[in-house]
Amino acid sequence: MGARVRVALLGVRGSTPAPGLEFVRYGGHTSSVAVALDGLMPSLILDAGTGLRGLTALLGGRPFSGAIVLGHLHWDHTQGLPFCPAVDNPDAKVDLWMPAQGDAEVVLARGMAPPHFPITPRQLRGAWWFGGMEEGVHEIAGFEVLAREIPHKGGRTFGYRVTDGRSSFAYLSDHCPSNLGPGPAGLGELHPAALELADGCDLLIHDAQYLDEELPERASFGHAAAGYSVALAEAASVPHVLFFHHDPQRTDDAIDTLVARYENAKPRVEGARQGSVIDLSNPTAA
Ligand SMILES: [Zn+2]
Ligand SMILES: [Zn+2]
Repeated sequence: MGARVRVALLGVRGSTPAPGLEFVRYGGHTSSVAVALDGLMPSLILDAGTGLRGLTALLGGRPFSGAIVLGHLHWDHTQGLPFCPAVDNPDAKVDLWMPAQGDAEVVLARGMAPPHFPITPRQLRGAWWFGGMEEGVHEIAGFEVLAREIPHKGGRTFGYRVTDGRSSFAYLSDHCPSNLGPGPAGLGELHPAALELADGCDLLIHDAQYLDEELPERASFGHAAAGYSVALAEAASVPHVLFFHHDPQRTDDAIDTLVARYENAKPRVEGARQGSVIDLSNPTAA
């Protein structure tokens, strides 16, 4: 048995939360993923959409100590920050990273300060540090994190690859590969940054906001089609894909129908579900 990485999906929706009876099975909270090592508490959070609220229950009410790493700063990746008692807590210790773009705290405060919001990032309770990250490999919260810039829309956006040295997963929540050209199947380029992030991972968590046939009309919003995620996984020898960043209009039944298209695909394909926990292990690793 190797060491294990545990990935908890706190929010899987893209763009805006999607409450309602048609969305309860996959969940309506926006992007946030908690990552833990072995049997430990989560120490690394990717994105802080409204799903971040679920971290409080995951920690059994204890304050969070670790890092929050944002892929970019859009609302659906930041608006959980002031609504999560585990991080807005006098005893919390949080390092918040974002793709480097000037003073990180000032940049975050452009979307989180009066008159847009009652408080600034600095007014969150606990010990907070805000910093910018450049591309490359970083040691963060007990993990090795590879950051690569990927095409999206409206702001510098990173995809990440996270590993404990044995198991690994790639997280490309918001990705518009068609910005770089049509690629082999007309769904976008299988470009070097995406291939490097996904290469040989145990799991790929990838933007699947659109159906392939919706892409021509909607690619200008900055997202990927589901079929691209499967093609990237195949090209990068990833055995398991989670469709992520579901369109807010995509009902549970529609996600089931989308996933069913890929039941014979080489990688195992599932729709990311809020509340699910995936244990990665690579028994062949040293
Ligand atoms: Zn997003
Ligand atoms: Zn975005």
